[in-house]
Amino acid sequence: MKEQVRHQAICPKCGTVYHDRPAISREDNATLICPDCGTREALMTLGIDPEEQEQIIQAIHRCRTGV
Ligand SMILES: [Zn+2]
Repeated sequence: MKEQVRHQAICPKCGTVYHDRPAISREDNATLICPDCGTREALMTLGIDPEEQEQIIQAIHRCRTGV
């Protein structure tokens, strides 16, 4: 039994339905957002431009699913 029933939530930032553990938005330290948006915000604070952010997120997705 590998499958686990997890809480489903909709990200208020991008509208994606996600099942992973949410991230907390850095904007107000309260809003729960999807892990991807959490990563985007983290990359943004590092000064990484949006195009590169997407590439990094794509790479993370490949790591998660590319077994
Ligand atoms: Zn999101």
